[in-house]
Amino acid sequence: MGKILTKKRTKTSSIQNKVLVNILNLTKAFSGQEHNIVDNISLEIDEGDLFVLVGPSGCGKTTLLRMIAGFESPDSGSILLDGQDITNLPPYERPINMMFQSYALFPHMNVADNIAFGLMQEKNLSKNERKARVEESLSMVNLENLAYRRPHQLSGGQKQRVALARSLIKRPKLLLLDEPLGALDRQTKENTKVELIKIQYMLNTTFIMVTHDQEEAMTLADKMAVMKDGKVLQIGEAEDIYEFPNSRFVAEFVDSINIFQGIVVKLKNKKGFFGIKIEETKEIIMAKSKIELVLGQVIWVGVRPEEVGIDIKPAKNENQVVGTVIDYAFLGDKIVYHVELKNKKNIHVTVPTSERAKNPELIPGKKVYISWYYTDGVILTE
Ligand code: ATP
Repeated sequence: MGKILTKKRTKTSSIQNKVLVNILNLTKAFSGQEHNIVDNISLEIDEGDLFVLVGPSGCGKTTLLRMIAGFESPDSGSILLDGQDITNLPPYERPINMMFQSYALFPHMNVADNIAFGLMQEKNLSKNERKARVEESLSMVNLENLAYRRPHQLSGGQKQRVALARSLIKRPKLLLLDEPLGALDRQTKENTKVELIKIQYMLNTTFIMVTHDQEEAMTLADKMAVMKDGKVLQIGEAEDIYEFPNSRFVAEFVDSINIFQGIVVKLKNKKGFFGIKIEETKEIIMAKSKIELVLGQVIWVGVRPEEVGIDIKPAKNENQVVGTVIDYAFLGDKIVYHVELKNKKNIHVTVPTSERAKNPELIPGKKVYISWYYTDGVILTE
């Protein structure tokens, strides 16, 4: 409920904007399904990026990833890697590797042998070169001390690191990761996220990762694509998508948000703000839009819970609506207030727990003013 930490793009300027993967109008349907599972998707992925495909379960993320790997054939469209059309190449001829969610480690092999298996097709390597590459990989994932353990003697996080080392040992141009953190507990997941970013940055290998967890996407992605029903709804850096979602679906998917329906009653002023009459409460608020709007247009205004102020006195912030506190919950360092507006609509307001002492009167039944700055609301047109 507080603002999700988003990753800042870490690439160096020398390789900025070199496209590595070009996906053009990719479409796939499975027999027995009425709709396309991947529906005319076009995407560009820059070299050196950790690119995340994120969306709810069943939206087609894994199918898209499997087509890039070559495990599924598209019905139409093409995939280019470094300018070369790889759409019809078999998986083993693509300079791509894929790390599966199950990790697919061999139970009868120790850690070093599991990692060395990644080099199986590199016939020209000498025994010493092979050994050196395995040692380098073990050190990359901090598993030097566990080289002779079998998978069943490892924790989930350690297995994940073995799978990562094995899929990177061939130094693929592109690594595909299907829910790489899905099987880990919360604490291990947090540590693994940091490790993953470090390794990806160190190797500068392009990663495409699939997850249904928006928080994971926001903290890991240099760029992300939000998918729904086989389509990409929005592509961008996490912070941009968080601040400027292009639809109600994206706004709600990336984090908790309050959405008001309204109509445009005043066209853009000199500072770029439109006047919006909130349909539910009839109050007039101001908000910025990246696109032009017309008078009478139905739109939605989204405001994140942490951008909203709550007080028993009229607010200092520019936009305000009146409501009544229904209840509140302590969530460690934050308190979430549930406030009901005149029309019974519920609003969430998040404030730091330390602020509670300043406003002990915020209790259920209390009339309150909910407010936010003009710049904090985002106008959504669909
Ligand atoms: P999740 O996050 O749950 O893994 P996803 O977004 O990765 O979901 P996909 O695995 O791509 O979704 O599946 C999308 C849809 O395609 C689902 O309805 C799934 O049942 C269907 N599907 C996937 N593979 C096949 C297949 N080989 N044959 C038929 N239907 C399939």
